[in-house]
Formats: sequence, C-alpha cells, structure tokens
Amino acid sequence: MTQRTVRRVLMQELTRPEYEARVGDSIVILPVGSTEQHGPHLPLGSDAIQVEEIARRVALRLGAIVAPTIPYGYRSAPRSGGGEIFSGTTSVTGQTLILVVRDILQALIRHGSRRIVVLDGHYENNMFLHEAIHLVLDAGAPPDLRILKILWVDPIPTETLDRAWPDGFPGWALEHAAHLETSMMLALRPDLVRREEIREDGVESLPPYDVYPQAPDFVPASGVLSDPTRGTAEAGELLLASAVDGLVAVIERE
Ligand code: ZN
Ligand code: MN
Repeated sequence: MTQRTVRRVLMQELTRPEYEARVGDSIVILPVGSTEQHGPHLPLGSDAIQVEEIARRVALRLGAIVAPTIPYGYRSAPRSGGGEIFSGTTSVTGQTLILVVRDILQALIRHGSRRIVVLDGHYENNMFLHEAIHLVLDAGAPPDLRILKILWVDPIPTETLDRAWPDGFPGWALEHAAHLETSMMLALRPDLVRREEIREDGVESLPPYDVYPQAPDFVPASGVLSDPTRGTAEAGELLLASAVDGLVAVIERE
C-alpha cells in the first residue's frame, strides 16, 4: 500500500477494494454531530465540523478509517444547546438516532470491522448512542468486536482546559457557542466564523431544571450561553491538539 493510500482516511474517498483491504485491521471512527444553532457567529454545522476534523486527525495518527459523519443529532436541550426553539436547529428523535447508528454499526461489522469508535460531537446524543451500541450487542455481535464511545472533549485534561480559558476553566455548564467552540472554529474554519458578530450575550447561570414548552427567554436570545469574545485560534489549537492526543491515547489503550 502506498503512503498516499494510507493517508487517505475518509471512507467516502476510498474505493471498495481499498476499503476491503483495510477495514478488518483498521479502527473505524463514526463521528456523530448535529445541525444546531450556534449563535450569530458560528455555523449551524459547528458540532459536525469539529467532530469530523478531530476524527480525521485521529485517523491520520492511527491509520484508521473515518465513516461519513452523521450530520443530525438528538434534540437540542436548552441548557446545553439552547433548545429546540431556535431556527436552524434540525434534530432527530432518540428513536431515529438509535436506529441510524445501529444500522451503520451493523453494516461496518458486516464489512469485517471489529474495532469501532463512536465519536460524539453533540452532548445530547450520548444515551442514544449507548442504546444503539446495546442493540448491536443484543443482536449477537462477533465475540471479538470492540466498540468505544466517547465525547471528543472528554479526554482533554484539566490542566489544558485551565490554560485554554483566560481565567481558568469555569466548567462545561454554559459552554455552547462560547469559548471552546468559538476557539475551535477559529482554529479549524476561520473562514466560517463571523467575527463581527461575536459579542457577549451570555448568562451567569441557568436554573438546574427544564420547563416544557421552553420559555422564549429561558436562554439568551442570541443562542450563545456564555462569553465567546475571548475565543482565539491559539486556544482552539491547544484544545484541538490536546483532544487529538487524548483520543489517540484512549483508543490505543483500549
Ligand atoms: Zn456545539
Ligand atoms: Mn451541540
């Protein structure tokens, strides 16, 4: 296999023979994103763009294959994504997400894949991915199958988080379209960040509960949950490198 072939990691760019030759021995990464409002300054595809690029960088390090990113996620929750009241947020039900992920996992297994990473880029997806993996196991998966599920931010160590936030890491509670995602998108796709639209319009805190239907003033009208104004490409590069290193370490360990 030439170096050039090995460097090609996106499943969509492989031919059937190239895929067949690699799928049994390679890790396959399935990124799961969302289509969700990210305020006036970040694109609707922010979750999908970030998780796909992280998957691609991890795959280059590991010689893995990246399956096409699932561009829709489970319903946005007010306290983690602003909620479903915003235009642009285009979600699927839990049942739909479970079945889509289950079907894709079963196809990968049928192709001979035995080591799969489900890489989550949208917080709300978590338990539906968990359920999809369980349905695959319940249906009688090959005994040597290993599936790892992980949210891409989770392997970033606390020291890196403290370095990436100007005043130290405040916690994940209000991190939507805010410091992390603005910094990440400045690092990954600066062409898509509307810098003139970056402004502080966040909240100090949100109540520790949800009310249905969601009140229009429950989260800021901007859809940004906390301050994005101090986001930088440098902080994004730091977080990105740390996430990729952390994911490579976790995947190699497991
Ligand atoms: Zn996001
Ligand atoms: Mn999200």
